Amino acid sequence: MGGRPWSFRGLPSAVTIHRFFVPAQSLVQDPIVLGDDLAHQLSRVLRLSPRDRIDLLDGSGSAWRVELLQVNPGRCLATRLYSFPVDTESRLPLVLYQALPGGRKFDLVLQKATELGATRIVPITASRSVRDAAAEVTESTRRRWLRIVQEAAEQSGRGRLPAIAGLSTLEQAAQEVVKGELALVGALESATVPIRTALEQVGSLPSAVRLFVGPEGGFQVDEIERLQAVGVLAVSMGPRILRTETAGLAMLAVVACALGEPAGWGDRRQEWDRVL
Ligand code: SAM
Repeated sequence: MGGRPWSFRGLPSAVTIHRFFVPAQSLVQDPIVLGDDLAHQLSRVLRLSPRDRIDLLDGSGSAWRVELLQVNPGRCLATRLYSFPVDTESRLPLVLYQALPGGRKFDLVLQKATELGATRIVPITASRSVRDAAAEVTESTRRRWLRIVQEAAEQSGRGRLPAIAGLSTLEQAAQEVVKGELALVGALESATVPIRTALEQVGSLPSAVRLFVGPEGGFQVDEIERLQAVGVLAVSMGPRILRTETAGLAMLAVVACALGEPAGWGDRRQEWDRVL
């Protein structure tokens, strides 16, 4: 379980506020009852006490600052103080279509893509995918993925959880591209433009951004052409060959900073003033 604190830069740790995503229905209770892993985390790991404050988020984009009333390993009670918007989400949907890599590299992609603001992460299969990916996406794998994304969202101060789509084919992914969006595929061999050029050519803010990244063996030329046929632009991330788990994150970081990020850090000071 995550719940890592987020404190405003340069301020005393005394106001470090731990944050947790919880089911929406638990936030309507009064007092709020926090059980299971979270109660253990609050009491045994973080050693919090009654009157300590934490933030609870239901993934809707706002948070409730609550005060703990009771702190026990099996169950904690809290009371709501006030809710506030969590203004850290990208201004537009950022969808990463990641060819499912071998081993647990996708875990890393999920964690970092969450920190970088991805709103949806789609594992895809491609003809050169290194293994029979479908066979390994078990229920327990998906539970682990959800936990990774939740912890990364808590740690990075997000207001919403990115969705993890089901394993899709490249064809299914290609069919999701619609007019008015910015869709890019990281490519090495096909005719590509530097990602910088692609972004410079963006006129008005696109309705969404979709990024496609190939497997360790790369996309086949016909797969790139299939994506280009639906308007996806083949872009280069520079002369070096990036690992599959690096490429998508690099593309995401560039696009998020260029197009997606909301207003600056300063806006988050409002919350800090209220804490004081
Ligand atoms: N030997 C493979 C090839 O030549 O395509 C290398 C594939 S690379 C390890 C995995 C994926 O990362 C590629 O399919 C591409 O989507 C992306 N990628 C890696 N380096 C890139 C770069 N410099 N520019 C654009 N995309 C890149």
